[in-house]
Amino acid sequence: MPIDMRRKHVSGRTLAVLLAALLLAGCGAPREARAKTVFAMDTVMNLSAYGKSADAALEAAEREIYRLDAMLARGVEGSAVYACNHGAAPEGELAELLALAEEIGAAADGAFDPYLGGVLDLWGFGSGAGEHRVPTETELSEAPRLLDLGGVAKGYAGQRVCDILREGGATGAVVDLGGDVALFGQKPDGSAWRVAVKDPAGGAYLGVLESEGGRYIATSGVYERFFEQNGVRYHHILDPRTGRPAESGLVSATVICESGVWADALATAVCVMGAEQALQMRAALAETTPFDVILVTADGRVLYTCEGFAPDAGNGYACERVF
Ligand code: ADP
Ligand code: MG
Repeated sequence: MPIDMRRKHVSGRTLAVLLAALLLAGCGAPREARAKTVFAMDTVMNLSAYGKSADAALEAAEREIYRLDAMLARGVEGSAVYACNHGAAPEGELAELLALAEEIGAAADGAFDPYLGGVLDLWGFGSGAGEHRVPTETELSEAPRLLDLGGVAKGYAGQRVCDILREGGATGAVVDLGGDVALFGQKPDGSAWRVAVKDPAGGAYLGVLESEGGRYIATSGVYERFFEQNGVRYHHILDPRTGRPAESGLVSATVICESGVWADALATAVCVMGAEQALQMRAALAETTPFDVILVTADGRVLYTCEGFAPDAGNGYACERVF
């Protein structure tokens, strides 16, 4: 995918990790994937679907993405999230999504917080598109608690897109939401989906993940959006406890889960909490919300829990399966 179109705010080659879906071509025309590109949620989305009515299903999925973008865009007057930040009570679908985001925040011991909007704005990472700058401690402690569902928007969109593709008669799909990937159904030849996990440092792939359908693969990384001031780099994943960019020893976290919302939020939370706490949380949630992780540490290691991940031998990292 056109990597440098992904984020307007990102300078040059900072966009290091993307999950690129490797669609293994089927044989014969009816088995080919139909594809659609959608610009929404500040990113480029690539949807590929199999099945006889795939084209119509993709049209419906595109409309759904625009609907969700309009609902969740915090900075857009008239969006449901904007209304909530101006006194309205969350209702219906938004209230449900918010309740889930709060539940995940609690499960992550506060490392994920859907009310970081005011703090994000101070750093210029908010939807107000303010200047990037380092806020003072006083500003941070006085920041208003504003609803910001940027940490779950793509995961929720991925879930809804898969629902709509299913309802529309698609038999299988790879939905790439600007690096986060939703896998739905089956490939025509019945083989596993294969997703290439890219290296946050750029260059080659970390490895390939093989997965069945019904999985969401979300990645958060501290390289995705950042600015520099006086030679110090400040990135967009904030530790809710300090209001400052997380310093957990992780460069990126990929979370694989049956729920898109959980995968998306946990990827952010894991970046905040670090490897050790992430593995503890994984054990604690094993019964209710099983998930896998692929973690890249600042000291050059890749730690992964999933059986289906095959690290690339030449990726330059010390790779280790952990539990
Ligand atoms: P991206 O949207 O670039 O894929 P993520 O999925 O990692 O990035 O989501 C990060 C977004 O979530 C930020 O842009 C911000 O809106 C919000 N955010 C940052 N830190 C947190 C946090 N600790 N808890 C909840 N949301 C956060
Ligand atoms: Mg995310």
